Amino acid sequence: MRFVFFGAPGAGKGTMAAEASKEFGLPHISSGELFRAAIRECSPLGLQVKELIGRGSLVPDDLTIKIVHERLASPDAANGWLLDGFPRTIPQARSLSEIDPEDYVIDLEVSDEKVIERLSGRRMCGKCGRSYHVTLKPPKVANICDYCGVPLYIREDDNVESIRRRIETYRVQTAPLVDFYRSRATLVPIDGEGDATSVWHELRILMARLMGLQLVD
Ligand code: ADP
Ligand code: ZN
Repeated sequence: MRFVFFGAPGAGKGTMAAEASKEFGLPHISSGELFRAAIRECSPLGLQVKELIGRGSLVPDDLTIKIVHERLASPDAANGWLLDGFPRTIPQARSLSEIDPEDYVIDLEVSDEKVIERLSGRRMCGKCGRSYHVTLKPPKVANICDYCGVPLYIREDDNVESIRRRIETYRVQTAPLVDFYRSRATLVPIDGEGDATSVWHELRILMARLMGLQLVD
């Protein structure tokens, strides 16, 4: 089954998609991670998008659509996927509906205050892409990934100025997708305000029901 994880920056898309990937065995495809990997590798694409991403602007649609479509074409994505961070604009949503249409769009609803609180304390693992938070979701050992044992880093765009711009960009360019998906009847809203454990508890049940699966515990 094909799920889009939708919501503001900091809504919990990445965290929930990672949990769902483990639980349901579907690949987690994050457009932001695809770009950050390109930046780490200093590939031509990475060099092209580094500055845009650092200041919290969107990458142009043509580049974004290309990198995501390439990833969706790989064999592990043939039987379903969890998309995180894509689509973010109407042209991106249209492109997806043409090449590999989603079954459901999970809309994680959170307030602006929560978004700012989460993003300004966020810490990332560069190896596995998991995210932590200094107070809301600290790793077991300060500043070290629980799974990889490597030091965490702060994303370049998790600074006050870029966070503000990303929220504004979300409002103007991405939020209108809610109507687009509502009209396609694939939108499934869920309250994303709680902590990661309680949101996941609810989402796990919801996704299992959508997939017609029986959960064991
Ligand atoms: P967040 O949801 O916290 O903003 P992401 O990791 O999804 O973080 O994205 C980080 C940045 O990567 C975005 O601010 C944007 O610059 C770029 N990006 C990611 N996905 C897209 C997309 N679908 N379209 C355009 N730019 C994107
Ligand atoms: Zn890790």
